[in-house]
Amino acid sequence: MRVLVTGGAGFIGSHLCDALVKRGDHVFVLDDLSTGRFENIEHLDTLTCVIDTTMNQEIVRDLVRDVDVVYHLAATVGVQLVIERPVHTIVNNIRGTEVVLEEACRYRRKLLLTSTSEVYGKGTREIFNENDDRVLGPTHRRRWAYAASKAIDEFLALAYWHEKRHPVVIARLFNTVGPRQTGRYGMVIPNLVGQALDGHPLTVFGDGKQSRCFTYVGDVVPALIQLMDRSEVNGEVYNIGSNHSVTIKQLAQQIISQSGSSAKIRYIPYDEAYGPGFEDMQHRAPCLEKIGKAIGYIPRTSLEEILDSVINEFQEKST
Ligand code: UDP
Repeated sequence: MRVLVTGGAGFIGSHLCDALVKRGDHVFVLDDLSTGRFENIEHLDTLTCVIDTTMNQEIVRDLVRDVDVVYHLAATVGVQLVIERPVHTIVNNIRGTEVVLEEACRYRRKLLLTSTSEVYGKGTREIFNENDDRVLGPTHRRRWAYAASKAIDEFLALAYWHEKRHPVVIARLFNTVGPRQTGRYGMVIPNLVGQALDGHPLTVFGDGKQSRCFTYVGDVVPALIQLMDRSEVNGEVYNIGSNHSVTIKQLAQQIISQSGSSAKIRYIPYDEAYGPGFEDMQHRAPCLEKIGKAIGYIPRTSLEEILDSVINEFQEKST
């Protein structure tokens, strides 16, 4: 297969490229290197990388024409980045997806869109089901621009399916983590692991009672490939996540103990961390029934194994 991965130099994208190259595909990457890094993919031989944005329609058209399928991962992500650059986030996420979908439809190439659990917003359900209502905060709270932009992407992809019968599938990812994820844009695990290994206090925002289900990138990637390979899933939205919930305080404690650090935890009010009026979601856990039935998905990697892999990566980099 010839495959286009937008955002292929990013954290999840580069792991996807590894798996596709391993199974013998020729991979084309389109990445503007805004948050991605060329080092993530430079070890791959059967890969062609174009450094440009998904908003460049001519480039996207040329690439899409030459491949069989499109994985569309390119997006502005990371709470910190979304808050600092709201215009870029909204425009990049909406216009980029508009272009990629238009060209995928022109050449009839199936498209997989990676979306996010953030689209559920601050709903208070114990677990989120794909058909649940979404609860977003007001438009002056910049965080919600990310959820809204990704929801528009979902609407548009589904509209192509309904109106033009163009094959699309949507994966809503719940806190994907693992090696190559950078802490620069606020992601909690690389942030806290870096702090623990440097002996700095671990910055836990709020009271640390908020919880997340961290999902290993090595569990996510095979699920994305299976969703692409099966036609029964077309026109559907699937949660991909883990069912092990942990509070951020527990996470920080586990990172300290697993890394052998003597660092302490420092609690930072949300206002100080992200600016005034920030809203966080207290709990976020996926219902995995639908993806389980569709492709037999089971998250296999424990939080302990995930943290080991990230800690090892940080330690290797520093030596
Ligand atoms: N968080 C934290 N300390 C950090 C970075 C993040 O306590 O240094 C918190 C953040 O407020 C959120 C959780 O950890 O409650 C997960 O944050 P992340 O940005 O990784 O993902 P989110 O689930 O918010 O998209």
